[in-house]
Amino acid sequence: MKNGNTRTALVAGGAGFIGSHLIDALLAEGATVVCLDNYLTGRSCNLAHLEKESRFDLIEADVIEKLPSKVRLARTKFTHVYNLACAASPPHYQADPEHTMLTCVLGTRNLLRLAEDMQARFLLTSTSEVYGDPEVHPQTEGYRGWVNCTGPRACYDEGKRAAESLTFDFARMGRADVRVARIFNTYGPRMRPDDGRVVSNVICQALAGEDITVYGDGSQTRSFCYASDLVDGLMRLMDSDPSPGAPVNLGNPVELTVNDLVERVTAMTGSRSKVVNLPLPVDDPRRRRPDIARAKAILGWEPKVALQEGLEATVEWFSDERHRAATFTAPIGSGVARSDLIAAE
Ligand code: UDP
Repeated sequence: MKNGNTRTALVAGGAGFIGSHLIDALLAEGATVVCLDNYLTGRSCNLAHLEKESRFDLIEADVIEKLPSKVRLARTKFTHVYNLACAASPPHYQADPEHTMLTCVLGTRNLLRLAEDMQARFLLTSTSEVYGDPEVHPQTEGYRGWVNCTGPRACYDEGKRAAESLTFDFARMGRADVRVARIFNTYGPRMRPDDGRVVSNVICQALAGEDITVYGDGSQTRSFCYASDLVDGLMRLMDSDPSPGAPVNLGNPVELTVNDLVERVTAMTGSRSKVVNLPLPVDDPRRRRPDIARAKAILGWEPKVALQEGLEATVEWFSDERHRAATFTAPIGSGVARSDLIAAE
């Protein structure tokens, strides 16, 4: 696709962990990319290597506010809109639940309308959280989930469920050509050290020789997908034609307990950290594992990176980051658009 690639992509949430990897993949394919981010959890250092890339630009904006006018003023004709804009780790999305819910619902509405106006193809990154604390295992897309709509995770879970509804409503009304990915736990380089999720927490704690925090007894399970595999799935899903017309699970079906993960990371890092057990968060899912039959059938996709290999690469990256600790907060780029894209604002 490299030569003559006429794709002009908007990646909302592009300064985040997954968004920035997606941007790299799109640019490598020859696309022109505009990143939209409010830097709530995204970090400018994830995009610092693109500062001189002529096919790349940044807009600092929040998807819940004034978005259509902002991007319309840019006069950029987007062909593809990727919505990755939302804090995704429980401590971050629970820090401001009102904003999380609005990001999911209003942000998705704003981006859908933009896609509609520009006749761009739209991809929503939804989440395995739509299955809540699942009674069906592994989780197929047909399972409707068991979500506590009044609990602390609801701002994200229900927000994403509403975002999915809206996305399929736009499709049913013929207003947008849509794709929906349900992303399961993902890990890899560029996770924030303070992300709060288990992979980054355990690796950072092990490397620092700090106590490793296991919530509950550590018997709960997750299935972890390496970032490059996930991005490959997102690219294939956006390119699938016709639209699958239904959500597609993207994740690695290799399931392990939190205790297994801790053992692996401790062995890998040679850490002498001790484990401390803390209370299990409210509504923490007991088990999670994707059924990826649909992704295999429709996209010809399945993860390639083994857990050991992915964890080693992630440990190495965090270890390097520790040595460059200053770059965690360095103001690389202002985070404000460099071009005339928001000149009229
Ligand atoms: N977890 C843990 N220690 C930590 C962070 C998380 O034991 O320092 C647990 C958490 O309670 C959950 C699992 O690890 O059971 C995965 O949590 P994470 O926040 O990574 O993702 P999610 O709950 O959204 O799947």
